[in-house]
Amino acid sequence: MDTQQVVIVGNGMAGHRLAQELRARRPEVRVTLVGEEPRPAYNRVLLSTVLAGTVSADALELADCGARMRLGVRALELDTERRRVTLSDGSVLGYETLVLATGARPVLPRVPGLAADDGGPAPGVSTFRTLADCTLISRLALGGSMAVLGGGLLGVEAARGLAGLGVDVTLVHPVGHLMENQLDPEAGEVLARMLRDLGVRVLLGVGASRWQPSPDEGELVLSDGRAVRCGGVVVTAGVAPVTELARSAGLAVGRGVVVDDRLRTSAPGVYAIGECAEHRGVCHGLVGPCWEQAAVLADVLVGKDTEYTGSRPVVRLKARDVDLAAMGRVPAEPDGDTELVRVSDVTRGRYGVLALRAERLVGAILLGLPDATGPVTQLHDSGSPAPADRFGLLLGTGAAVSETPDKLPERALVCRCNGVTKARLVEAWHAGARDPEALSSSTWATTGCGSCSDTVQRLCTWLAREAV
Ligand SMILES: Cc1cc2nc3c(=O)[nH]c(=O)nc-3n(C[C@H](O)[C@H](O)[C@H](O)COP(=O)(O)OP(=O)(O)OC[C@H]3O[C@@H](n4cnc5c(N)ncnc54)[C@H](O)[C@@H]3O)c2cc1C
Repeated sequence: MDTQQVVIVGNGMAGHRLAQELRARRPEVRVTLVGEEPRPAYNRVLLSTVLAGTVSADALELADCGARMRLGVRALELDTERRRVTLSDGSVLGYETLVLATGARPVLPRVPGLAADDGGPAPGVSTFRTLADCTLISRLALGGSMAVLGGGLLGVEAARGLAGLGVDVTLVHPVGHLMENQLDPEAGEVLARMLRDLGVRVLLGVGASRWQPSPDEGELVLSDGRAVRCGGVVVTAGVAPVTELARSAGLAVGRGVVVDDRLRTSAPGVYAIGECAEHRGVCHGLVGPCWEQAAVLADVLVGKDTEYTGSRPVVRLKARDVDLAAMGRVPAEPDGDTELVRVSDVTRGRYGVLALRAERLVGAILLGLPDATGPVTQLHDSGSPAPADRFGLLLGTGAAVSETPDKLPERALVCRCNGVTKARLVEAWHAGARDPEALSSSTWATTGCGSCSDTVQRLCTWLAREAV
C-alpha cells in the first residue's frame, strides 16, 4: 500500500482547486487526486457554452495542478480507522488526510421511461453535468428537436443554447414560473417571454408523466395529456450531493457531508468541500463557495488558524441575449421591515427589483439590466448603505454607479467565482501582470464563469493609461 499525505476524492472544480491551492502553499506536500471521470479536470461552469457551440470542449480543460492523478477510477470504500481508501481498480491508498470533493449528481425525477434499469438515464435521455453529457445531448439534438425538463438555471441555459443552434426546443417546467428558486413570478414571466422570443417553446405549470423513446423521434407525454415529439430529453431537475462513500464509512451526513467551520467531517483526518459538503445546514450549488472552501481548507491543512464562515453567492445566467443576475432573498411582497423597489418593462425584457432592509440590500433580481449588475452586486458584497437614488441604481444611471475602473472601490469583488478584488488585480498589474491573460494566471480572475472578463480588460486599459 502506498501512503500519500493528502488524498482528494473527486477531480472536479473543488478537488482540482484544492490541489492547486496546496501546491501554491507547500509544493512538497504529496497530493493524489482520485477522479471517476476519465479526463483531466475541466471548467464545468462553462458546459453551457460547449452545448451552445461557442466554446470547444478542449478549451475547458483546467491547468495541471501538480497532483498525482488516478483518473477513471472510483473511490469505493473508506476505512477511517485504518486511514485507507479502496479504489474501483482494486488498489488501496493510505492517507494522512483525506478530502471528499465528490460534488453532486443530477436527480432523475420518478417519471416512467426516464431511468434505465441501472438507475441512469434511459435511451434518448441525458442529464447535464459532464462533458460526456454534452456529447450525448449534441448527438440527440441531431434529430432537430429536443425537450428540456426543468426550468432552473441549467434548464434555461440548455434550452437557450440548443435553440441558438437551430434546434426546435420545448422547455417543460412543472412550476408556474421559471427559476423559482431565484426569481419572483414577474421576473420568471419576463424570462419566459425572452426565451419564447428566442425560439424556445416554454410550457409552465406542467410536468412530464412518461417518456417513450423510439429510434427516430420519441414522445414526452405531459401531465395534462399533451405530448412533445422530440429526438431526446435533457433532464435538468436538480442535483443531490454525492455522499455514499461518506455515509457507508459512518460519517455524519445530512443532505451533504456535514462539516464544521474548519471543513472537518465527523471522522478524524477527513474533510469535505464543494457541492458534496453541508456547512451550517447549507449545500452550495455554485463554484464560488466551492473555491472559497478549497482556499480555506488549504490554509487549514498547512496549519493556519482560519475558518470558512459561509458565502454570499450571486447567480448569473450564461445564455446569449439574456442578461440575468440574482442574489440574496427577495420577498414576494414588502413587509414591515423590507422595502421593495421595482422597475418593469415586460415587453422589452427588462425587470429589476431591489429588496432593502435598514437601508441595506438583502436581495436583488436584475433581468435585462446589465449596467446595474456591477454596482448592485458590490452593494450586496459590501453590505454598505444603498444610495438614496434607488431607480438610478437599478437602471445603472445613478451617481452610485461606480462601474468605471477608476471609481470601483478597492475592495470591490471583480471576479466573484475566485473572490478576486480590484485591489488584488491592481497589485498583480504593478507586479508585472500587464494584460488580462497574465492577470488571470496570477490571480485566477476570469477562470470561472468568465463574466468579469470585460471588467478585467477595462481595468488593464485604465492602469496602462494611468501609468503613462
Ligand atoms: C451546466 C452547468 C452550468 C453551471 N453554471 C454555473 C455558473 O454559471 N456559476 C456557478 O457558480 N456554478 C455553475 N455550475 C455549478 C458548478 O459547476 C459546481 O458548483 C462545481 O462544479 C462544483 O464543484 P465540485 O468539485 O464540488 O463538484 P464537481 O465539479 O461535480 O466534481 C466532482 C467530481 O467528483 C467525482 N466523483 C464523485 N464521486 C467520486 C468517487 N467516489 N470517486 C472518484 N471520483 C468521484 C465526479 O465524477 C466529479 O468529477 C454549473 C454546473 C453545471 C453542470
